[in-house]
Amino acid sequence: MNECIFCAIKDKGIGNALYEDDACFVILDKFPAERGHVLVISKVHSDSLLTASDPTIGHAFALAKRFAALCQERLNATGVSVITNIGKDAGQAIPHFHIHVIPKYPAGQHELRYNGRLEITPDENAELSKLLSIRQ
Ligand SMILES: [Zn+2]
Repeated sequence: MNECIFCAIKDKGIGNALYEDDACFVILDKFPAERGHVLVISKVHSDSLLTASDPTIGHAFALAKRFAALCQERLNATGVSVITNIGKDAGQAIPHFHIHVIPKYPAGQHELRYNGRLEITPDENAELSKLLSIRQ
C-alpha cells in the first residue's frame, strides 16, 4: 500500500476527479478553506514544487489558471488564491506536489493576507539582495 495519500488516490482510480490527463488530476479538497476549493495534483510523485519537473509545474499552473477562471465563472468567486506550499513550516500537509485553488468571496472565511510590516534595515535589504540575486 502506498503511504503517500495522493499517490494512493491516484492508484485507487480517480473516477471522481473534476479533471484528469496524463500528468495531473484535479479534485475537490477534502478539507476546504472555502466553497469550491480544489487541488491540482501531479500524477508523478514529487515532494514539492522544488522537485517536480518544470513541464509538470507549468502544466499544473495552467490547470490552476483554468480552475481559477471556473471559480469566477461558475461559483461567482470575487477572487481566487492560487497557492503551493513547500515544507511543513509553509503549511504543506501532504508531501506530494499540489496546487491549491481557493475561490474567495466577499464574506469569506479563509484569510490569507500578508501584513508586509516586517522591519528590515537597509543593510539587511542589501544583504538579502545579494543572497537572492540570480542575475549573471
Ligand atoms: Zn505521492
